[in-house]
Amino acid sequence: MRESNAVFESEGQRILERYREIVPGDFNDFLATAAAKLPRAALVNTLAIAPDALIELLAEQGIKAMRLKWNEDAFRVSHDIKLGSLIEYGAGLFNIQEEVSMLPVAVLGPRPYERILDLCAAPGSKTMQAAVMMRNRGTILANDVNRGRLSALRMNMARLGILNVSTSFGDGLRLKAEYDSFDGVICDVPCSGEGTLRKSSGALAHGLAHGQSYRGGIQLSLLRKAIKFCKPGGRIVYSTCSLRPEENEMIIDKVLAEQTVRMVPVQLSGFVSAPGLHLFDGQPLNPDLKHAMRVWPHQNNTGGFFVALLQKVAK
Ligand code: SAM
Repeated sequence: MRESNAVFESEGQRILERYREIVPGDFNDFLATAAAKLPRAALVNTLAIAPDALIELLAEQGIKAMRLKWNEDAFRVSHDIKLGSLIEYGAGLFNIQEEVSMLPVAVLGPRPYERILDLCAAPGSKTMQAAVMMRNRGTILANDVNRGRLSALRMNMARLGILNVSTSFGDGLRLKAEYDSFDGVICDVPCSGEGTLRKSSGALAHGLAHGQSYRGGIQLSLLRKAIKFCKPGGRIVYSTCSLRPEENEMIIDKVLAEQTVRMVPVQLSGFVSAPGLHLFDGQPLNPDLKHAMRVWPHQNNTGGFFVALLQKVAK
């Protein structure tokens, strides 16, 4: 039985009610999963250790780590395992990262020797994942507007032995970098965090219910900027941990209308997702939004999430 959270059940359920008509499968299953505790997940630092070897080290301490079906370098443990207090964590053998948070970089697929921009990077889970996929080669510019979170990113990179990341502190909208110069851009924007209800419980539900809602304006501006920094032909991945169409499809719909990018279809074998919406509340959206990934919590027992992969069109 999944452990439920009493505060969530009143506030959270009310917030999620607007999705009754569009949730795939059983709405009650969706509500029950969204109210249950989230399993913890982690990504192996394959620069430092092979996944099998780490899983064996954990098993010796009685920790059962289950490989993710869609990513063999990542695993799940029960929600009550404190991964952050393990010596293997301190030694940089893995990073704690929610399973859905691993999706954007997995679909972006950064390669060694590329030049990648992570526009809203802190505390650096996706930066780390990209650096590992790049085998510490090439460059990642990791930017964030929050000084404390950026210093956590720096500490994380040091702990993990990541060498190809330089950092920049400031508003992504004012970042001093060359336009048309990055092979790939990670645009993991600030959001209402609605998809993280399982993690944040009552405090978040309270915030959402009292109007600390979506942040469409900054999200669209950051995505437009991300597109400017990307090379023609390069990829931009946009993601939020929110289920709100206003923070997801409606943002992508606007940039598609500007014709600077096209949607790239994404799917990860072994991970269940729904297509992006092309109609919400009677408002038609670009039909290519079906190529985005909308992740509902009950599909894989995760948080809620949205990912869209875009390619910048040649001038
Ligand atoms: N990508 C991060 C990771 O995987 O660890 C999580 C990023 S979190 C969803 C969003 C981040 O956007 C926060 O760290 C926040 O400080 C940052 N942020 C908010 N407004 C920003 C802006 N105008 N420019 C750059 N970063 C911003």
